[in-house]
Amino acid sequence: MKITDLRIHEVDASHRGNWFFVVIDTDVGIQGVGEASQSGNDELVMACLRQLGERIEGNDPTQPEVIWEQMVGASAIFSGKSGRVGATAVSAIDQALWDIAGKAAGLPAWRLLGGRRRDRVRCYANLNRGTTDRSPEGFAQAAVAAVEAGFRAVKATPFDEVRASHQDRDGLWQDVERGLARLRATREAIGGEIDLLVDCHCRFDLPLAMRVAEAVRPLDLFWFEEAVPRDQIDANAHITAHSGQTTAGGESFFGRAEFERYVTTGAVHILMPDVKHAGGITECRRIAHQAQIHQVSVAPHSPAGPVSTMAGVQVAATISNFLVLEWAFGEVPWRAELLQPAEIVEDGFIEVPDGPGLGFELDTDVVAAHAPGETPS
Ligand SMILES: [Mg+2]
Repeated sequence: MKITDLRIHEVDASHRGNWFFVVIDTDVGIQGVGEASQSGNDELVMACLRQLGERIEGNDPTQPEVIWEQMVGASAIFSGKSGRVGATAVSAIDQALWDIAGKAAGLPAWRLLGGRRRDRVRCYANLNRGTTDRSPEGFAQAAVAAVEAGFRAVKATPFDEVRASHQDRDGLWQDVERGLARLRATREAIGGEIDLLVDCHCRFDLPLAMRVAEAVRPLDLFWFEEAVPRDQIDANAHITAHSGQTTAGGESFFGRAEFERYVTTGAVHILMPDVKHAGGITECRRIAHQAQIHQVSVAPHSPAGPVSTMAGVQVAATISNFLVLEWAFGEVPWRAELLQPAEIVEDGFIEVPDGPGLGFELDTDVVAAHAPGETPS
């Protein structure tokens, strides 16, 4: 079997950005799908995908790890600021190759990956993209909607007014308080039994992060995500060691080496590799295995479309130190229809599919109906 082509489908997802699905074709008619959304530069990731697609044309797609090394080893795309773009392109191709490898064998990808350790994968609802009303009441309503949809864990991103680079002004703590008010309203609305996660989007410096960590203590958080810039390893490790909060982070890191620094320095309690940026299914599993040695658990970051979510399900199903998978709640109502069979989240869980490859086909009619510039009928 040979790779013959790589195609990109763009979907108009929301005001927060489009989704990019990558289809790899083969000479035997089997296709594989991956997702390359949220790279930080849509134009560049498409160029990068096309270049990598040409490079791997003619290769045997049923050997994802071999092709992974070829793509990463022979490319300059991982240096400098374009690092995440290249990482996203490689990650999308890797997802598609596992899809092809499974379909070629007539087996779910998880069987090729050593077997599934769970039949269904616990998800939390990321409320951020679906919360357009940014008042405390708006946050509370979004959280209640997620709980009513069956989720037992929700994540809020409440510190809209705080900017890491704008701390030289009056009123900083009042801005923090506006975020805290959203969180308190959320906790009050969902009650004490639902897990509440908070993403700080790297907006604080260390002293402010410690102060906020103290202020949120009565809210009994499940985790306190990325309070300071994620590259500041010492500051992250300090928060992890001394704030009394469970910390999580690393959503845009690529590869074992970047996560290795986090694990060995105790930067966070929980790693958040993203199957779209960390190096695909191949590398996310290696990262998880490495973390397991240090008793660090893995909660894959996944705030984009259903293709990368289902690739994340394959990772989640096959690693022993999986904690919970992110799911973007309330973004677009037609999300589930992009896949056949449709993506189903029930009682806050996604069933690990038994179908070959990643367990679905991309519905190209639905994809075409939501292409940029199309008016969905
Ligand atoms: Mg985050």
